[in-house]
Amino acid sequence: MAVDTPARIAIVGAGPIGLEAALYARYLGYTVDVYERGRVVEHLRRWGHVRLFTPWEQNVSPLGVRALQTQDENWRPALPGECRTGHELVERYFLPLAASDLLADCIQENVEVVGIGREGLLKADLLLDDRRIDVPFRILLRDAEGNERTETADVVLDCSGTYGSPNWLGNGGLPAVGESACEERIKYGVPDVLGGDRARYAGQRTLVVGSGYSAATTVTALARLANEAADTQVVWVTRRERHDDGVGPIVQYANDPLAERDALAQQANLLTVERSRPIEHRPQTFVDGIAFEGATAKFQVEFSGRHAGHEEFDRVVANVGYRPDLRLFEELQVHTSFASDGPMKLAAALLKQSPEEARDGKPCGPPTLVNPEPDFYVLGAKSYGRSSNFFLSTGREQIRELFTIIGDREGLNLYASH
Ligand SMILES: Cc1cc2nc3c(=O)[nH]c(=O)nc-3n(C[C@H](O)[C@H](O)[C@H](O)COP(=O)(O)OP(=O)(O)OC[C@H]3O[C@@H](n4cnc5c(N)ncnc54)[C@H](O)[C@@H]3O)c2cc1C
Repeated sequence: MAVDTPARIAIVGAGPIGLEAALYARYLGYTVDVYERGRVVEHLRRWGHVRLFTPWEQNVSPLGVRALQTQDENWRPALPGECRTGHELVERYFLPLAASDLLADCIQENVEVVGIGREGLLKADLLLDDRRIDVPFRILLRDAEGNERTETADVVLDCSGTYGSPNWLGNGGLPAVGESACEERIKYGVPDVLGGDRARYAGQRTLVVGSGYSAATTVTALARLANEAADTQVVWVTRRERHDDGVGPIVQYANDPLAERDALAQQANLLTVERSRPIEHRPQTFVDGIAFEGATAKFQVEFSGRHAGHEEFDRVVANVGYRPDLRLFEELQVHTSFASDGPMKLAAALLKQSPEEARDGKPCGPPTLVNPEPDFYVLGAKSYGRSSNFFLSTGREQIRELFTIIGDREGLNLYASH
């Protein structure tokens, strides 16, 4: 059933997709509340030192560009080759957008969404019954001081991403024995090895675990650091030896349209075969146990697999992927995939994609955004569950598709008309 304006749309997360969705909704006249646990684009700021794979025009929306041009006549889109890192994108686009007249009033920073339910209804009430639409969503919020309150909404968009909930680094995807006790000491995410975190890694012995693009970013940066700073040692542990018939563990696509991604994968894979390499690659190896000893300030790590044994490290970086936080909607009727933890319809469609479609983050169409819970949608990186094939351009297409559903306006495309 169509949700007409003025309806109240609550958005969880002021990340890139939460902000773009809020903008689209504001243009259509909806009342919008964006709740952000940290600062605007919090996750993007955390990995902002990373070079983006995608160029400017794929990272911004026509609606956002239009809003910024209207707001400030001196604002200009980036030229080709400009705005290459996450930080540059934040400064040049997302922060001005969040501060623009259309969005500034509807964003609440330092407000965490703790849970989403329906007023007076339990998960099992009115199963697959559209009468749930008549009951507003009830959203439990918590501010930075721990104060709690509730708000209501007619539609909820969960755009809370996955970067805030990294996977465990242990064997089988479980926490390694002792990992939970020392998780505060482990770096989950991409450290700024050549920038702000340089002193933490220079001259140290670091263990990197993982074989995705985050791991590739970390090991290539550490390899550079090792060439510049004496005594920097790096052990890189991966489950697989090489991806398909490539030279190393990082996926390399044939004719990859994203040159930055291809170059990164190539560089990281070469580190596993170069003779005078500063990186020691240990494939088919797993972390079974980990402990941090306060007295020596070192990690004791227990490996199994091809390079089984016990070793000591100064730093540990876990680049083993991210997962959606399902607790936010556990009181709603949302069917998630047993493989990816993403919403089921989209997960099933993603499984059927060709390797090229997956590589390019091709969107899957409006019906795949619909959940058993009416008027509740998961967008952005979180909608892809544990898969990392999500792009900002995918998210914008999801937003366009979404508003054809909630307004019941087939063919609506504000991106084409701005
Ligand atoms: C290292 C890295 C490099 C990438 N490079 C590219 C690239 O070059 N091109 C590209 O297209 N894509 C890239 N991506 C993929 C993807 O586009 C980004 O992850 C993007 O940030 C996803 O946007 P999002 O809005 O879905 O989620 P996020 O950016 O993760 O934003 C989610 C927001 O929700 C907030 N939040 C979380 N939980 C709550 C809660 N309970 N209550 C309130 N707020 C909450 C967070 O603080 C955050 O601000 C990259 C991803 C990573 C990790």
